[in-house]
This record gives sequence, structure tokens and C-alpha cells, in this order.
Amino acid sequence: MYQSTRGNMNNQSAMQAIVQGMVPSGGLYVPTEIPQIEWRDYQGLTYREVAEKIMKLYLPEFSDEFIRRVTKVYDYPVFDGENPARTVAVGDVGVLELWHGPTAAFKDMALQMLPFLLKESIDTLYPGTEVLILTATSGDTGKAALEGFKDVEGMHIVVFYPEGGVSAVQERQMITTEGKNTAVVAVKGNFDQCQTAVKEVFASFAQMDPAELNHKMISSANSINWGRLLPQIVYYVWTYLSVVEQGKIEAGSPLNIVVPTGNFGNILAAYYAKQMGIPLGNLICASNKNNVLSDFFQTGVYESNRPFYLTMAPSMDILISSNFERFIYEMSGRDAAKVVGWFKDLAQSGSFKVDPQTLQRCREQMVAGWADEKQILAIIAKYFQEHHYVLDPHTAVAAKVYEDYVNKTGDPTYSVIVSTASPFKFAGSVLAGIGNHEQVTDWQALEVLAEKTGWEIPNNLRNLLERPEKEVFKCNPEQISELLRQRFLDS
Ligand SMILES: *Cc1c(COP(=O)(O)O)cnc(C)c1O
Repeated sequence: MYQSTRGNMNNQSAMQAIVQGMVPSGGLYVPTEIPQIEWRDYQGLTYREVAEKIMKLYLPEFSDEFIRRVTKVYDYPVFDGENPARTVAVGDVGVLELWHGPTAAFKDMALQMLPFLLKESIDTLYPGTEVLILTATSGDTGKAALEGFKDVEGMHIVVFYPEGGVSAVQERQMITTEGKNTAVVAVKGNFDQCQTAVKEVFASFAQMDPAELNHKMISSANSINWGRLLPQIVYYVWTYLSVVEQGKIEAGSPLNIVVPTGNFGNILAAYYAKQMGIPLGNLICASNKNNVLSDFFQTGVYESNRPFYLTMAPSMDILISSNFERFIYEMSGRDAAKVVGWFKDLAQSGSFKVDPQTLQRCREQMVAGWADEKQILAIIAKYFQEHHYVLDPHTAVAAKVYEDYVNKTGDPTYSVIVSTASPFKFAGSVLAGIGNHEQVTDWQALEVLAEKTGWEIPNNLRNLLERPEKEVFKCNPEQISELLRQRFLDS
């Protein structure tokens, strides 16, 4: 069963939690009880088998046959290679590469699974209903969601991105998506305007009865959905097993995890894996210059009134970190009344302050730090020179924060840095890091990076220029609602 972080919804099934995404009046779903496992029972299993066993614990009303079938996505050829989450040894640390999926970013790990979970839930709870998925994106989420929902029967997906606000590679990735049920809209505005407009549409349509909407429902692929978090817990269980098997740690010894963090989904999955009984050590939360989270761990104040910086790690350029709500709910001892108070303060004044006991629990569970733009470039250079390993800027943030952590604490525990994107997705910045100062276009950057490093361009980023483009709708933020009605809902 699932319950809301704000105490306003209890006893929801996994299917209900997944269909709703979040509680309409505010609040996120968490499992009423965290299942406990004995990690040794998972030794020797394949990734897919681990996924099957873990997901079953959280999805009691889904059939065994269904879970066995859908976990197949983690096999070749959706993900390249023999498992989708490889930990490679780089100097003294492990790097967990989560970008071997169709869009070369870690969001594939969850967005290749969510559509199946959502479809099964809708077919069971609201048979005959078609679903329209709305997603605002500043880059990576849009393409990963398009790939996940492409050609899923009974589902349509529309992605909104700020025109001129995403990289050329990201835009090209989105507009070359195949599938009859996918659409992209370039919005004349910035990401916040896109997101706000989509949220408004969402609020006005989500309350409507499916019958009124012609048996259509609106949902979202946003990272607050429990169906996106669950597949991420799997790779932390898997990583612990892999590192033991590689002989990097003794069975049962702790393993630290370092996560480049934005919306807090990835690191929260590590926290839940630890709560389930995986012997993880310190969880290290790494932010870029938008360091609202690392300030929180210092002061106990979540202060979103601050300048917003565009950085080389754009998927972490976030001031309202949605999944953080789940974490402080847990750290407050699941005190929903406190959470309600904090989020009321956040809505009214842009900040909130937790009590000393909650802050102390937060600090017992996680360590936080941040890295600026110069430090990102410097650590990319360092890893390349010392290890011939190429970090993308997001992963570089984590590598730098880990370096600072070790210098400060001397903690000798083996650590895994979570790598969230292929360096080729951000080739221009990576080239600047490894010391290429020639002017190159976004497209040349891919080739130049391949030449300079000897690394191969991922197949799904190659030939993007030659692929056929789909029609791109264009509109102003205030036209989004009308466009959706005309093109997608009234038909
Ligand atoms: C989304 C994303 C992140 C942030 O992950 P969260 O789960 O939102 O904390 C980090 N790196 C990359 C490349 C991403 O796409």
C-alpha cells in the first residue's frame, strides 16, 4: 500500500499511486512499509532477475507473468551490452555507467519501464481509456519519455521544450523520434513558462472525468511518480552485488554512493535500497552551482529564493527539488503535519526550515557538497589525464564533490560515483574540459571528442542529422491548452 507525504491519502494500491502520479491536492506517494531483503539471496542473478524480484515486492497486484515480461527491457538490444548498469573501476573508485540505453542518459533506466507500469494500471483500473502524457522538458527527460512511450498502444505523448533553450543534440534527438503517438512542441518561452503552462493544463484537465474527456486521461512522466523511482532502486541493489563480485569490497562491508543530484530521485532510490537492507555506507549528494540542497544540509533551511544559474550540467539546474519532499518526510519520522507546514512555508515565502532533530537525521543519512563551473572542467581534465576516462559534466560534479569529501574526511570506504549521461551528450563542454579550444559546432564536437579520446559515439547519437524530422508544433505558453484540445483531445 502507498500513502501520501502530507497525510491526505492513505491505503492506495500501487496501481492507483502510479496512475495518479501525485496526490492532486499535493503530496507524494511512499510505500507504507519498506520491504526488507537479505541481499545475499540476490547473488548470482542477472540484472533482469534482480529487477523482477525487487519490483514484485512493491507491486503486489501486478501478475508475476507481467513483471517477468516487462523486465525484459533491461536486456539487449534496448540497452547495449550484457547488463544495463555497469560499474567500471576508474583509479580508486567505481563509476556506475547508467547511460547505455536508447537516449544515452540515466533517465532511460526508469522511463523504459514506467510506460508498461502505467499502461497495465490504466487497463486494469480504467479499461478502454486512452492516456495523453504531457511532459515539459529542459532536455534529457523529453527524449527519454518519448522513447519510452513511443508506440505503446492506447497512449500518446506530447513533449514541450523551450524553443532555443535546449542543446542542438537534445532538440535533434527529440524531433527525430519515431512513433505515430509522439509529438513535440517548441514553446516560445523559457523552461519555467513551459512547465507552469503544462502544470496549469494538467490541473484543469486532471480533475475531469474520463467520460467527459471522451475516455481520455492526462498523466505525466515526471520524476515524482513512484513508477519512476522503483526501477531506480534496482540498480543500487545490483551495484552492491557487482562491487562485491568484482572483489572491491568484502561481502557485507559498506559501499558509499555519490550521486549528481537535481530532482533528488536518483539519490532517493539509493536511500530506499539502503533501508531495504543493502549495506550502503554514506550517500553523497552532489549539486552544481544551484546548490540549494548542499546549503540545506549546512543550515536546515531550504531557500529557493536565490539566483538561478544555467550551468554545463543543465539537468541539475533545479531550485525546487521535487523528490526531496519524500526524504524529509522520512527524516521527520513520517510526520505528515510537519511536511504540510514546510510546504506551506515554501509556497508562501519560497523557503522553509526544519527542526533540529530532522536536520540531524538528514545529516546521518546523507552528506552534501557542490561544484562550480571551473571545478567541473578541472575534474574532467583530471580524470582524462590520469585515467583516460571521460566524464560528462553531471558526473563530473559528483566526482569533484567526492574528491572534496575524501580530502575532508579521509574516509577509505570504497565508493561508486553514479554516471548519469554519456559524455557525448554534452560533447562541447567535455571538449572544453579536456583542453580543446578550437571553435566547433555542436555536431562537430561529437566527432572531435571521439577523435581526441578514442571513445565511440553511442549509436543513438550517431547519424542524428540524417534521420527524418517530424512536424514540430510551435506556440506561445498561453496557447498550450488550446493546442492540446484541438490536436489531441477532441479527435
Ligand atoms: C535528470 C538528471 C540528473 C538528476 O537526477 P535526479 O534524479 O533528478 O536527481 C543528473 N544527471 C543527468 C544527466 C540527468 O539527466
